[in-house]
Amino acid sequence: MATNQHLPMKIAVFSTKSYDQEYFEKYANDASNSFSFFETALTKDTANLSIGFDVICVFVNDNVDKNTIEILSKNGIKLIALRCAGYNNVDIEAAKNNHIKVVRVPAYSPEAVSEHAVALILTLNRKTHKAYNRVREGNFSLKNLIGFNLNGKTIGVIGTGQIGKTFCQIMKGFGCKIIAFDVLKSEELIASGVRYLPLNEVFEQSDILSLHCPLNSNTKHIINKASIALMKEGVMIINTSRGALINTVDVIQGLSSKKIGYLGIDVYEQEENLFFEDFSERIIPDDLLLRLNSFPNVLITSHQAFFTKEAMAEITTTTLDNIKAFEKNQELVNEVK
Ligand code: NAD
Repeated sequence: MATNQHLPMKIAVFSTKSYDQEYFEKYANDASNSFSFFETALTKDTANLSIGFDVICVFVNDNVDKNTIEILSKNGIKLIALRCAGYNNVDIEAAKNNHIKVVRVPAYSPEAVSEHAVALILTLNRKTHKAYNRVREGNFSLKNLIGFNLNGKTIGVIGTGQIGKTFCQIMKGFGCKIIAFDVLKSEELIASGVRYLPLNEVFEQSDILSLHCPLNSNTKHIINKASIALMKEGVMIINTSRGALINTVDVIQGLSSKKIGYLGIDVYEQEENLFFEDFSERIIPDDLLLRLNSFPNVLITSHQAFFTKEAMAEITTTTLDNIKAFEKNQELVNEVK
């Protein structure tokens, strides 16, 4: 069992951006623990930066695979503190075998992510991003800016956990009909009028599909050639969950054939070495992303759905509480087992 004999805790924070450091410095009141901030992502090649630390703190694109975990273990790391909800980038089994505990921030602000999904829908539909640029350049034409009413449309929600649930509630406010698929049904949502259907029927009936399930072996490439074939002509697909829920090559085909009418993604299958970085003066080393970006009906944001003041405050305070509980040998309420 992992124990923590030597206090205070020394914590290495990987993939640090200025805003991460700002929030940690704002909320870390306990002077006994020391934080070191590394801009680099955690991979097996950078894992030796953990020498001398007790805890590592990582984010969505750090690669905490078996090789990395074995190096962390050799270096005496006892706790991996994820400052996010999803943990698909951590080999939980390997962590367990190496006696390293894993904690996460299970629900920091479902509203932040679901509101961003709605922002993608509204932008793609009403084309405010294009209108903004046009008007700034003195072009007041409405040509090609036509949208559709959300009222009365069918929204298919895949995954009705914390985020999917708030997304359903917001879309009900627009007067939409909500259908959903989840391996667990929410009685609360059923009572509010959401109808659970088999997955294929959700694909067939939705005008807009929004993905809110975790990435795992059952959900990887849930949007693929076969599922796209079932969808309505001109369907809108929104993904604020994890990139690999979508088979990018198949979606590009769907966009080319006009079967997919709109695509809004905050996450991308191969975002790991791109998102959160500034490539504006570099060659983007990803032809699939460039192809996606070439469609007028595709909107990509770089994993910013979580990024609100409220969510950052909650992510930081929960991460600090998780580390504090470990330090004090208390129950780890947010442990990933
Ligand atoms: P959650 O655990 O509360 O909900 C996930 C839901 O998916 C659960 O109801 C679960 O039963 C369901 N599910 C599991 N397997 C499924 C399957 N095979 N098919 C359909 N549904 C399935 O998680 P959450 O807090 O709502 O977060 C959902 C996802 O959003 C996370 O896994 C994470 O990947 C992603 N996320 C993205 C961002 C971002 O900034 N873009 C931020 C936070 C979370």
